[in-house]
Amino acid sequence: MLYYRIFARMNSADVAKVWELLSQSNNILIVPHKNPDGDAIGSTLGLFHFLKLLGKTAQVIVPNDYPKFLKWMPGTDGILNFEKHNTQAQEYLAKTDLIFTLDFNHLSRTGQMEQFLEGSNAKFVMIDHHQQPDDYAVVTYSDVSMSSTCEMVYNTIEAFGESERITPEIATCLYTGIMTDTGSFKFSSTTSRTHRVVAELIDKGAQNMWIHQQVFDTNSPARLHLLGTALKNLTILNTYRTAYITLSQEELDRHQYGKGDTEGFVNYGLTLEHIIFAAIFIENKEEGIIKISFRSMGNFSVNEFARAHFNGGGHTNAAGGRSTSSMDETVQRFERLLKEYKNQLLA
Ligand code: 5GP
Ligand code: MN
Repeated sequence: MLYYRIFARMNSADVAKVWELLSQSNNILIVPHKNPDGDAIGSTLGLFHFLKLLGKTAQVIVPNDYPKFLKWMPGTDGILNFEKHNTQAQEYLAKTDLIFTLDFNHLSRTGQMEQFLEGSNAKFVMIDHHQQPDDYAVVTYSDVSMSSTCEMVYNTIEAFGESERITPEIATCLYTGIMTDTGSFKFSSTTSRTHRVVAELIDKGAQNMWIHQQVFDTNSPARLHLLGTALKNLTILNTYRTAYITLSQEELDRHQYGKGDTEGFVNYGLTLEHIIFAAIFIENKEEGIIKISFRSMGNFSVNEFARAHFNGGGHTNAAGGRSTSSMDETVQRFERLLKEYKNQLLA
């Protein structure tokens, strides 16, 4: 049976345990989820810089590539991509004795890396804020109320009594992940504590305006035109307080789609008055799937919705999933489901 420990901070026994594991380990691996976002890259690189500060040997391995708008982050050049640098990544995996898994709750979220992580003899530490964490780790620091995994990495450094040593590199990485996972400090998970942590990170050298510009003000014209297409495709279903966007492979190709180009598009649905449920359906012909993002406002749990119907999950107000049917069939199924959920959506 799974045992969910919900602590705002890592408890002191676990802090001591992680410290002990660190002292016993020679080659530490840090892994985020597949298709890593700002929080995934920020938390892994933030922890990486901290472990370096402690004099440890550490390596970040991402399951696959991540968006260009994150590739300016300190340490980004040293990241191994499991798809692209497979031999090097496997070599490191073979000698690693401690693995931090960050910003995900189940090893299947690492895609192709899953079987290699499962086969590893290393000990695991999980730091994550997603619901229903799996129990593969020696220490599971899981807290679904947290704004971001980056805030939890900050808590961990603080629990070690090391927050005064936070460098501008660590501060920059952690700031970035908190900023992206809170929608620039506006989601309900943003607490006064989040702002205090962010204030500390600014004091430690995170240049907030500059970071915001690197992430949000580096659009290409093609990406803005793709957003135009997405907004033209927006379907508004006021009866269900729902709005959704579709993007076909052909539309993506026409705008020279690159990884991360559709990031944030789903949120436009929620900017409509009265709309509390938004989705985006993005065709991926290569993988033969429709990748879906769900967002909600209030109590409607897109985590449960994605889990129950689209082979996914996430948080109450932000989740993802997939469908192997065609775009038309997927959207039709989605609309049928809305009827079933009408009471919840209008509650
Ligand atoms: P996004 O829509 O931005 O891809 O993901 C939103 C949130 O849901 C993120 O926290 C992400 O980690 C989570 N998520 C996305 N796709 C999946 C999935 O297929 N399974 C699970 N369990 N979580 C997902
Ligand atoms: Mn996150």
